[in-house]
Amino acid sequence: MLELLTGIDDGVLKAGDVKDLLLRAVDGMYRQADCWRYEDDEDKLAWCRRDGTCQTCDRHRDAFAKSLAVASERWRRWTLPEQYPYAADSSKGLHEAGCHIVRQGMPEEFSPPVADDAEALRSFAHRKDAYDPYDRPKGLMPLRYHIPFRAMTAEETRAWMKQNTGPKGGRYYHRCERCAPAP
Ligand SMILES: [Zn+2]
Ligand SMILES: [Zn+2]
Repeated sequence: MLELLTGIDDGVLKAGDVKDLLLRAVDGMYRQADCWRYEDDEDKLAWCRRDGTCQTCDRHRDAFAKSLAVASERWRRWTLPEQYPYAADSSKGLHEAGCHIVRQGMPEEFSPPVADDAEALRSFAHRKDAYDPYDRPKGLMPLRYHIPFRAMTAEETRAWMKQNTGPKGGRYYHRCERCAPAP
């Protein structure tokens, strides 16, 4: 800033240059203070659509790609029930892959977006980023690629059960009473 003022004083800098420099400085401060996070969700979405992408999308790009990879792998396993005969959900319920509860919870088909689909990334990112999860910005495309069960081999299932058993033998998982999995 001092250099700027000296520059003006010496007549080296023109008003236009000073304006440019100041604007760049403000832009830098804005980024550093991460003001973006405090902008309105609807505004951020509108700016993202206008510009093609945004900071929110950048921030969630890797997580989006990872979620696609996880879903694809889960689906692959789901299509090979002989190799992966057991399945766990995110609240640590354990089933046989053929259990009625699992079949009901799994989607009929799997058609994920591609990782560089800007609109899908936008929906993922702006949904995750929404300040109030019950008041998300409108117009996001639905993302229906989530696969709720992770199918496992018998060996993986035994390791998983061990991992989810406390030192005194207490279970942190629930074994489905309906299919009573016994890997
Ligand atoms: Zn965005
Ligand atoms: Zn079950």
